[in-house]
Amino acid sequence: MKQFSLAICAAIFLSACGGSSSVASSTTSGTSGATNGAGVTNASAVFNLPGTPTNVTGIAGDGSVTLNFMAPASDGGATIASYTATCMAGSVSRTISTTSSPVVVTGLLNGTKYRCNVAAVNAAGVGAVSASVELTPVVATAIAIDPSKVPLGDGKFSQTGPAVGYVYTCYSANGGGGASSKGPWFNSDGLTWNSLSKISVQGAVNWTSSFLVSFGSTLGITGNGLPPNPTGTFPIASTDPAYAYDRNPNAIAQANIAWGLPAHPVVADKPRCTGLGAIGVLLDGVRLFNADDGANRDAVAWEIQDACQGHPERTGKYHHHNVSSCLTQKDTPGQHSPLVGYIADGFGLYGNLGENGKALTNADLDECHGHTHMIVVNGVAVNQYHYHQTKEFPYTIGCYKGTPVSIN
Ligand SMILES: [Zn+2]
Ligand SMILES: [Zn+2]
Repeated sequence: MKQFSLAICAAIFLSACGGSSSVASSTTSGTSGATNGAGVTNASAVFNLPGTPTNVTGIAGDGSVTLNFMAPASDGGATIASYTATCMAGSVSRTISTTSSPVVVTGLLNGTKYRCNVAAVNAAGVGAVSASVELTPVVATAIAIDPSKVPLGDGKFSQTGPAVGYVYTCYSANGGGGASSKGPWFNSDGLTWNSLSKISVQGAVNWTSSFLVSFGSTLGITGNGLPPNPTGTFPIASTDPAYAYDRNPNAIAQANIAWGLPAHPVVADKPRCTGLGAIGVLLDGVRLFNADDGANRDAVAWEIQDACQGHPERTGKYHHHNVSSCLTQKDTPGQHSPLVGYIADGFGLYGNLGENGKALTNADLDECHGHTHMIVVNGVAVNQYHYHQTKEFPYTIGCYKGTPVSIN
């Protein structure tokens, strides 16, 4: 009789047996039917619940965990028909049935810690669950863009509206591209360029940099526009190999920043276009421009910047067109990138890694090159829009998601 009641318990599987409030999509209904039948036809047979699976270990995957286990010492006198692997996070659980180790439990949320266990099932029902293992599924961190084949952004500019992978501009191309000819780092496919073989402007010129960010009624950005890292020698010397492709004649000059950006940015009714000139600032205190060289070509591919990806424009303003590799804000694998700059609408710009360290591409971001989730802004956790760097064009933002203030 004891065995029979346990079989009934198994037949209605946990829901009335105090097990859990399972929302499993893979249930043991097939097993339940078999158990119920066994309970009826073998009511007089002598068998017990199976023992507990042992040596349970697990590996976290992308939205899943893989559990390894060993069969229990006792099968209770009846063949073990299956195992149920259950992963729980709070009141949510996922249960998968399997006939042997290992078992992959899918449909889990990345970044959420689960407690997972395994139980054996025989004709008498579900045995006691094993010891739990704690696992947190994570997005696989892959190099999403091949640095030797970076998609070229030439022509990916629009004056009529924003689009994913494009820069929305308030102006038409003016033919002012700085590069005079195509370097050998452009691949022969005509569609990509090799960021590993592109040359830099030579030299190591030191500057005294000043830069300060303050939170008040506005997000205050002040500085002299000069970097803490050495720059290349500008104008580009005729003896510099870069001169063959880009004869930037401009010298770097101090250009003070005194901006009051929105301290509490909000998403605007519609995206706004970007102009030529500063669209924000990176945390090295250097202005950020969009990815246009002025001629609607990919500035990062065409123009030759220095080793920290900066160069001066006509009035001497030193600036970046992508996120400088010289920033002290570095990524940690498996984690969201740190803040690397501020955009003119007050929203932050972050590095390439999204939640759980996923390397982001344009496909992961909206038309302005951002997304919304919990981030920490000025020490406070908020569910807020923010932009991300990508390794592909447009590298930083495609448009303003908020309302930009006028910056110089
Ligand atoms: Zn430029
Ligand atoms: Zn993010």
